[in-house]
Amino acid sequence: MKHLISEFLERLCLKNKNVYLWFRDDDVGRNTLKLKKMIQYFDCKDKSILLAVIPTLIDEEITSLINNNDRLMVGQHGFSHINYALDNESKSEYPYSRCNASTITEIMLGKKIIETAFKEKFLDVFIPPYFEIDKHILQMINGSFKWYSGWWTNSIVGEFVFINAQIDFVNWNEINTYGGADFVELQLIRELKVLEKSNCYSSIVIGIVLHHEYCEEDSYKELDWIISLSNFHKNLMIISPTQLYDLVTNDKVVVNHEDNID
Ligand SMILES: [Zn+2]
Repeated sequence: MKHLISEFLERLCLKNKNVYLWFRDDDVGRNTLKLKKMIQYFDCKDKSILLAVIPTLIDEEITSLINNNDRLMVGQHGFSHINYALDNESKSEYPYSRCNASTITEIMLGKKIIETAFKEKFLDVFIPPYFEIDKHILQMINGSFKWYSGWWTNSIVGEFVFINAQIDFVNWNEINTYGGADFVELQLIRELKVLEKSNCYSSIVIGIVLHHEYCEEDSYKELDWIISLSNFHKNLMIISPTQLYDLVTNDKVVVNHEDNID
């Protein structure tokens, strides 16, 4: 699979097509050993990462740890990360059944907590837990955030900018832990195919979502390999979360455009 990806990148290079990779780590709250390891890893690689921070979980220790590290940027990961879904709904902190004014008040309280704690490190991005938010709730927070980050393709839907992650290290459907090298690399190939087939775009932005609590030795080995790709392929670049918004909104990278959330 690794060889196939290198060949893909070489073919894309011949066509002057570029790949931009970025990293997000979800479920950041207390300062655990596994979070420490993730942060040390990115320090060591000199790469920036977007942390999806749960407002109700943060304390002074994690706040100062993040604020004292230039490579760490912050997004708001829901409010408490509680699953409120009814039996007939997908797991979600924001299912349709919670579509009411007090849910919005809670989201905005979370925003205040994150803004106060992290100031300019907060990139004004909302990252819904479980990759799920009911479209009516999304409509109700319209204008409250600059962008959103969940799962699947990057898209601009009306006024909503979604800069999502496309590659997940965790296989939630089968094993609920790191899915392995093939699992990750198949997702990367799927995204490279999107770029290869695109007639109108010459670049793609691909997000990689990590969950530090599920990162083991093998996950870090795979990350090593992904990061090393940028040393061998000049058309693959690793970018920081602060570079994302401009790239996606200036229409030079693969983005799905739709008119409305209906
Ligand atoms: Zn989460």
